[in-house]
Amino acid sequence: MALHETRRSFFKKSAVAGTAGAAILANFGSGLQAAVNNTPQSSNPSALRITDLKCAYYRGHGTHLFVKIFTNQDIVGYGEGMDAVDGTYNLVQGMGRMLVRRNPLDVNRLFEDIRRRGFFGGAQSGIYVAVMTAIDHALWDLAGKALGLPIYRLLGGKFRDKIRIYCDTAHGSAEPSAMAAEAVKVKNMGYSAIKFDLDWARDPHKLDAYNMTASPGEVERMVNQVAATREAIGPYVDLCLDMHGRYDLPSGIRVAQALEPYTLMWLEEPIPAENLNSYREITESTSTPIATGENHYLAHDFLKILENKAADIIQPDLHKCGGVGEGQRIGNLANLYYVPVGNHCVASPFGAMSAAHCCASFPNHLCQEWHGIGWADRWNTLIEEDPIIQDGYITVSDKPGVGVTLNEDAVKKNAVKGLPFFE
Ligand code: MG
Repeated sequence: MALHETRRSFFKKSAVAGTAGAAILANFGSGLQAAVNNTPQSSNPSALRITDLKCAYYRGHGTHLFVKIFTNQDIVGYGEGMDAVDGTYNLVQGMGRMLVRRNPLDVNRLFEDIRRRGFFGGAQSGIYVAVMTAIDHALWDLAGKALGLPIYRLLGGKFRDKIRIYCDTAHGSAEPSAMAAEAVKVKNMGYSAIKFDLDWARDPHKLDAYNMTASPGEVERMVNQVAATREAIGPYVDLCLDMHGRYDLPSGIRVAQALEPYTLMWLEEPIPAENLNSYREITESTSTPIATGENHYLAHDFLKILENKAADIIQPDLHKCGGVGEGQRIGNLANLYYVPVGNHCVASPFGAMSAAHCCASFPNHLCQEWHGIGWADRWNTLIEEDPIIQDGYITVSDKPGVGVTLNEDAVKKNAVKGLPFFE
């Protein structure tokens, strides 16, 4: 017998009990009804529907895009996009309208629908993919919350409990001793991998503002910095250097070869991202591992890097290149080529945890970036939980969805002025 029929027949019988039983009658079933009301609506995932999508922009490491997807069961999902998100408010709204009345559990299908809709509108790279990426993260967060599972479970489980972090840091001086001292400080914080920038726009040895050739003085400065740093941290801490695509092919080869004695984990973007034939030339010319990827999009771009043997390590930015689902596809694709993934990450701690779920889900993950050492106090306020990096690792959350809570009040403190804030 259905519950409501049971209650109806009881009420009929009770009606004859008169006013003496009125108080009992008024309260009958209230406890059960309250329990029903309090039962998480996530128990009905088939009826889950998206009702709205709102967004906010935060000024942190450049501009962060946060999207918030609402549903008919009071479950919301958050996602973050980075780097290629300035000026995207109308794009976000348009993609949001595409999602209304759809079931967010069809994550990959919704991602593909948005991608195909933009086939002639830029869906191969850039801001279109970055906005799709933020939405993808929010859909995975929603799906996890609706089903009561952490994202890594939805991805097929995890290969590791903790994600190794490499600390991107800065030193503010060309003195080799300054970089070495900063590296020792970071090593003593528990990090097993450290990254510095090698390019320096104000280098007095730079001979021309537009020519991309590293002068002998620039190369000497770079080598001296790296030599001092390697000596200071010893042989067992991984060291990465980033050139931000600001040099030409002969300079990239020259620097990569000059740094061979210092056993780098990688030399990053010695040349701009676009020409993979030139990347292959550098990669073939040196024993220094070459890395690229933060300016590439979707699995298609990474397939080209892998097929061209253009890099030793790929660096997808999981808040820009497609998101959690595409990130897993990229990771598994690289695994077929025995290429490790050291993902670029300049997102908030919320986004860093979301990326960590993805990085736990494929076998060949190497390490994930953290870029917040200079502003850790502000960075850590962006989630309501304690700081997620401990001793150089992020422990992947076992809570539903991303598993950490975006602090909207903290986001609002540095929201981009002139744009709606989750309205
Ligand atoms: Mg970089």
